[in-house]
Formats: sequence, C-alpha cells, structure tokens
Amino acid sequence: MRIFDPHIHMTSRTTDDYERMAAAGVRALVEPAFWLGQPRTSAASFTDYFDSLIGWEPFRAGQFGVRHHATIALNPKEANDARCRPVLDLLPRYLDKDAVVAVGEIGYDSMTPEEDEAFAAQLALAVAHDLPALVHTPHRDKARGVERTLAVVAESGIEPGRVVVDHLNEVTVKLVRDTGCWLGFSIYPDTKMTPSRMVELLREYGTERMLVNSAADWGRSDPLLTRATGEAMSTAGFSDDDIDKVLWRNPVEFYGQSGRLDLSDLEDPAAVDPQTGNSILRGGS
Ligand SMILES: [Zn+2]
Repeated sequence: MRIFDPHIHMTSRTTDDYERMAAAGVRALVEPAFWLGQPRTSAASFTDYFDSLIGWEPFRAGQFGVRHHATIALNPKEANDARCRPVLDLLPRYLDKDAVVAVGEIGYDSMTPEEDEAFAAQLALAVAHDLPALVHTPHRDKARGVERTLAVVAESGIEPGRVVVDHLNEVTVKLVRDTGCWLGFSIYPDTKMTPSRMVELLREYGTERMLVNSAADWGRSDPLLTRATGEAMSTAGFSDDDIDKVLWRNPVEFYGQSGRLDLSDLEDPAAVDPQTGNSILRGGS
C-alpha cells in the first residue's frame, strides 16, 4: 500500500513517527503551515517557521525516504492577532518556492471579520500564484462554518477543483459534495472521523475527489491512521485500486495542480529504499 498523507504537521512529530510511517507505506506528504499552540508574537517568527517547512523538515523526511512538501499561509486562528497579520506581505516570496504546493491552511476558526479578510486575501494569492488552496474548516459550529467557507470560495473566483475543504464529517460532506471542491477528511484517534466512519462515507459518496489525512500534530493524533483507513477499506471489500486511488492517486492529482510535485522516482514503491529514499532503479541518482 503506497500512501500520500495530504495533511500532517511533521514539525510536531519525532523521527520514530517518520520511521513508522515509512514502514507503513507513507512515501510522500504535505505539511501545511498552521498554529503552533503557543501564540506567535511577530511576523518574524513565521519566517523561521516557513523556512523550516521548506528546508529542515524536507531534509529530515528525506532521511526516512519520505518526500516532503509544504503549504504556506497565515493560519485562521492567528489571522485574529494584529501582531501576526504583517505575515500576509511575506507570503508571495514563499509561494514562489518549488517546495510549496498550495496556499494553506486558510479558512475559518471563529469566523471573525479579521478571518474573513485574511481568507479572501489568501484565496486571491492562490489565484495569483496559480496554486491550489487547502481550506481548514472550524471545529465548532461546523455546518455554518462550511457554508460560509463555500460562499467565500465561490466569491474569490478560484476554480473549485483547485480547492480542498478539509476536516469534513458526515454532516458537512453533503454541503461540499456538489460544489466541485475536493473533500478532505482528518482521521483522529478519538474525535472527528474514524477509519470505519470514513469507510462508510467512501461507500456512500465514492472515491472521486476524496482525500484522507491523519492531520497529526502536537495534539493527540496518530500518523498511521491513513494506513488504518486503507486496511479498513480492504476489510470492507474495496479493491486495491480503490485504496490506491484514495491514498495515493487522489492527493497526487490534487497537489499536482501546483505543477511542483515530482514523484517520478516514487511511483513504484519497490524501487525506493525506505532507509535512504534513494531510487534503487536509478542507482540513487
Ligand atoms: Zn492542520
């Protein structure tokens, strides 16, 4: 089983996680810029963080044979902090980097006017830089948050097929299904979606435009829940091809719209040495 985790915060994870993920079949991932738990007090703090997302973290991932990509943005929660908002002016410089495959996480936390403004401004940046957008949806008042999210996405003029609306569940999936946007689901150990609930949604809505992620971060979370979902799909009778579509080909197609994914030497997982990430077929070149 080859796995592309389209949303995971590796900065918060250990090398043990990288090791276990590589052994479980995770060959590539996307790490979205987000809130660190501890509030930042200046835009300069973001600069160091963004630099680590496109420099240090890909290096760390590479040691375990995992291909690392990033999305860059001012996250919804810190959009409310006047000390952080100048980071919006720094984003264009990062959105030009090859390691950056989307604008994100953007969207709503508490649905304030400040969040409205940062969300719209960053969707405009996605359009200007010809990048997809990763949109976080609020954990409280979810249905209203998703409705408002979709209205802002529609108003921005970004093509819906270049947007993933993330952290969906049984209620909010219905709101997004017919909009043309991609649907993201975060599988968590004890909140949000579980592997078995995810399997039910895949049965009901099919595998098109569906993305499954672990969203593992500094909270209680599990980077192997993508693999667990693949196994639950298998037990439920989904074919290997269905599993490969959801866990590999879909995220490759979505983030591939950036024009910056190069997974050519990962396409056959057997050809990559999980310890070094070197392509055996190409002699590690
Ligand atoms: Zn996240």
